[in-house]
Amino acid sequence: MSSGFVLVLSGPSGAGKDTVIDALLTKDKDTIVSISMTTRKPRPGEVDGKDYYFVTKEEFEKNIEADEMLEYAKYGDNYYGTPMKPIREWTKQGKTVLLKIEVQGASKIKEKWPEVCTMFLMPPSVYALRQRLEERNTESEEEIEQRLAIARSEISRSYDYDYIIVNDRVDEAVDNILEVINRYRGMIRDYSEDVFEPAATAAES
Ligand code: 5GP
Repeated sequence: MSSGFVLVLSGPSGAGKDTVIDALLTKDKDTIVSISMTTRKPRPGEVDGKDYYFVTKEEFEKNIEADEMLEYAKYGDNYYGTPMKPIREWTKQGKTVLLKIEVQGASKIKEKWPEVCTMFLMPPSVYALRQRLEERNTESEEEIEQRLAIARSEISRSYDYDYIIVNDRVDEAVDNILEVINRYRGMIRDYSEDVFEPAATAAES
């Protein structure tokens, strides 16, 4: 069995992370996606415990105090974070655990554990992002502007990542991600013990 490891995937809102991840999961049975916790409201069709754990601000803060979060960050007006426990278990089982997180959380994780593989999913253009966000029709015009402003600043930090994956065509993006995953599998030592010792980190935008 290969060693489990953590793979971070970031990318601006509307870059197509969910589509790419869904396609990746159908091609690769050893990858599991971590379910994050958030204080944002569910979008139509989103399911609690599948897309996110949707919680109140108070519940989220309780988890921070109890040291249950591997990392967390404020994005827009909401908290987002990664519950630590399942990740520890999955990496021990040899799984590739994918964290779909924004740049602050990603850079905190990379700072602590340089072995973690980080990837940035790059949209073909900011114009394409706006189009996708508008077509998705799940955010107000004001929220779309806020997300595009965050996107520009995220793109400027994309060079901090180990890999930049351009999402022009989903199948090509997935193949490129899989190539990196396969390179990592079996090559790395089991670092799950040192990964889970340090206290959680926080970042604010
Ligand atoms: P959305 O509201 O579109 O679902 O997510 C907004 C942003 O938060 C996305 O960039 C997403 O990747 C990021 N995000 C989701 N879960 C987490 C998490 O657990 N931690 C951090 N730091 N960011 C997250």
